[in-house]
Amino acid sequence: MKHAAEPEVHASLSIFEKSCVYCGARFRVLAAQDADANQSRSYDCPACGKSYELQAAGEPEVRLLRGRTDGKDDHYQETMF
Ligand SMILES: [Zn+2]
Repeated sequence: MKHAAEPEVHASLSIFEKSCVYCGARFRVLAAQDADANQSRSYDCPACGKSYELQAAGEPEVRLLRGRTDGKDDHYQETMF
């Protein structure tokens, strides 16, 4: 007895909005989700460059929605090393 054809599609796209904890910019992140291919991916805040991580199957795409709100124009520096 065979199973009815099951679509092999288990990939999906996650879309969420995020506010940068460093500069306050608001941006949208699009990332493909696939349980077989997910791994840690990094993406950067488009305004200050602070990097974040998420689990995704491909490179996340980031789109700036609203500029930074901290009134500065410095670049985030990872100083914890
Ligand atoms: Zn930022």
